Amino acid sequence: EEKRSLNFIEVAVESDLAAGKNGGRLNTRFPPEPNGYLHIGHAKAICMDFGIAQKYGGTCNLRFDDTNPVKEDVEYVDSIKEDIHWLGFDWGDRLYYASDYFPKLWDLAIRLIKEGKAYVDEQSAEEIARQKGTPTQPGTDSPYRNRSIEENLDLFARMNQGEFEEGSMVLRAKIDMASPNMHFRDPIMYRIIKHPHHRTGTTWKVYPMYDFAHGQSDYFEGVTHSICTLEFEVHRPLYDWFLDQFAGPDYRPRQMEFNRLNLTYTVMSKRKLLQLVQEKLVSGWDDPRMPTICGLRRRGYTSTSIKNFIDKIGYTKYDGLISVSLLEHSIREELNKTANRVSVVIDPVKLIIKNYPEGKTENMIADNNPEDTEAGTHEIPFTRELYIEREDFMENPPKKFFRMTPGQEVRLKSAYIVKCTGCKKDVNGKIEEIYCEYDPLTKSGMPESGRKVKGTLHWVSAEYSQSAEVRLYDRLFNVENPSEEKEKDFRELLNPESLIIRKNARIEPYLAKTAEIGDRYQFQRTGYFTVDPDSTENHLVFNRTVALKDSWEK
Ligand code: ATP
Ligand code: MG
Ligand code: MG
Repeated sequence: EEKRSLNFIEVAVESDLAAGKNGGRLNTRFPPEPNGYLHIGHAKAICMDFGIAQKYGGTCNLRFDDTNPVKEDVEYVDSIKEDIHWLGFDWGDRLYYASDYFPKLWDLAIRLIKEGKAYVDEQSAEEIARQKGTPTQPGTDSPYRNRSIEENLDLFARMNQGEFEEGSMVLRAKIDMASPNMHFRDPIMYRIIKHPHHRTGTTWKVYPMYDFAHGQSDYFEGVTHSICTLEFEVHRPLYDWFLDQFAGPDYRPRQMEFNRLNLTYTVMSKRKLLQLVQEKLVSGWDDPRMPTICGLRRRGYTSTSIKNFIDKIGYTKYDGLISVSLLEHSIREELNKTANRVSVVIDPVKLIIKNYPEGKTENMIADNNPEDTEAGTHEIPFTRELYIEREDFMENPPKKFFRMTPGQEVRLKSAYIVKCTGCKKDVNGKIEEIYCEYDPLTKSGMPESGRKVKGTLHWVSAEYSQSAEVRLYDRLFNVENPSEEKEKDFRELLNPESLIIRKNARIEPYLAKTAEIGDRYQFQRTGYFTVDPDSTENHLVFNRTVALKDSWEK
C-alpha cells in the first residue's frame, strides 16, 4: 500500500487526540438523510467518517438524519445500510436516528423559549426571507419577536397539537438580526409538518430544522468530530451557538468541513437523481449509469476501486470537479489484475476458413490472465466457421487498418494466422460472410507461429458459442458539468447513447459455463464486463463496466 501524507482533517484529529480533548476520544458520525440512495459523493464522506475512526481507534455512528418526514422512507434506510456494508464499513451497535431525539430537542426548545431566546413567528416564509436583509445590510425585526414567554409556550405547544396549518408559524431562535453572519438572523428552529413520519408516525406536528437538530444530536451521542462538507462552514458558528446555550465546558463536538465530490458527466443531487428515477429516464436507483453506490455496483465497480479512487482524490478545502476518468482508471487498474480474459463477439459476422476441414474441432489454449501467473488457462474451441466483430472487417479500408481485409494476414488470438480472401454481401451491401484461408504452421508452438502480423483479432466458434445480451453503458450526460448549464434543463443534456443493447452477442463456451451474477471479466479487446442480475440460466446479460481504453479524454 502506498503511503500518502496526512490530510488536514487527520492532522487536526491527531492534534486533538494528542491534546487529550474530550478525554482523548474520537467519535465520528455519518449522517445521511434517508431521502434517497447513497451516491459516490456519500462514499467520500463514509470513507472519511468511518475511515478516520478506524485509523485512530475511534468509533463511528450511523445516524439517520430523519427530520423531514415528507421525503423520507424506510426503503432508503435499508438501502443506505446495505451500501455502507458493501463499501466495507460497519457501525456495530452505533445505529441512531435523529428522530429519537425529538423529545430532547423539544425540551431544549422549551428551555430556550423560557430563557427568552426563541419565539413563535406567524409571518409567511416570504415575509421572513424579505426581513433577513443582505450581508451588508441588517435585517428587520419580526413584529412577533417580542411576544411574551407565556404566549410563545402556548403557541409552540398548540403548533405541535396540529392546531395550525403548515407554513403558518415557525419557532425562531432570537439571536441577532444585524449579525454579519446571515445564519444568526433569527434562524428557524421548528416548522409545522403534518405528514406522518416513517418512525414516529403522527406523534409530532413540528419538526426541527437541520441547524437546530444536527449539533444537538452530535452532542447527545458523544460525537467528538462532526465532519461534513464545505457548504456547512458558514453554519458552524450557529452550530457552536446552540451548543453554547446548554452544553457544559467539559465536552464539545467539533464541526470540520471538507470539499464535496463533484464528478464530470453526472449529477450528484439527490433531487435530480430522484427525478431521473421517477421519470423513468433511467431504469431505477441501481441503473448502471447512475452515480449511486448500487448503480456502480451493478455496473461492475468493486468497493476497493471506489475506495482507491477516493483516496487518490483526497480531502481539501476547495470545491472542484473531478474527472470521471479517474474513477474509471481505478476500476480498470484493479480488473486488469483480477479479471479473467474471455472471448466475446459483440456484433458478430461470420468468418469461414475455406481450407479448414469441415466438422473438425481443435481446443485452443487461452490464458485466463496474462497479468496473473496463477490464473491458469482455459480451452476455446476452434472450428471452420467462426464469428468475428463486424467492425474488424473492411472491404476497402483506409491506410493502417491492420484488421481483416482482402489480401491481408491477421492473427486469430490463441490460434492461427489467416489471410482474408473475400466476402459475400446482401442486396444492400451488408456483409454477410467473410472468407479466409489459414496457415496450419502458425498455431502456437508451430514453426511459423512467430511470424509477425500487425493485427490480432478475437473470435468465437460459430458452432460452440452461445448467444448473450450485452449492455454497453456510457456516460449518462453529454456535457462535463450538467449542473452548471444555465440555458437548459439537466434532462435535456442526457447522452442518448448512454445505453446500447446488443442482443445477439456470441460468447465462448467457457464463459457461458462459468458466469455467475456479479462476476467480472475482461472481454478481449473490448472492455471489462460484469454479469447483470437480470441474467437467467439460458440468457446471460453482461454490463460494460468500462471500455479498455478511455475514448473521451483527448
Ligand atoms: P443532497 O444535497 O443531494 O440532498 P445531502 O448532502 O443533503 O445531499 P445527506 O444524506 O444529508 O445528503 O448527506 C450525508 C452526508 O454525506 C453529509 O455529511 C454530506 O455532507 C455528505 N455528502 C453528501 N454529498 C456529498 C458529496 N457529493 N461529497 C462528499 N460528501 C457528501
Ligand atoms: Mg439534502
Ligand atoms: Mg443533508
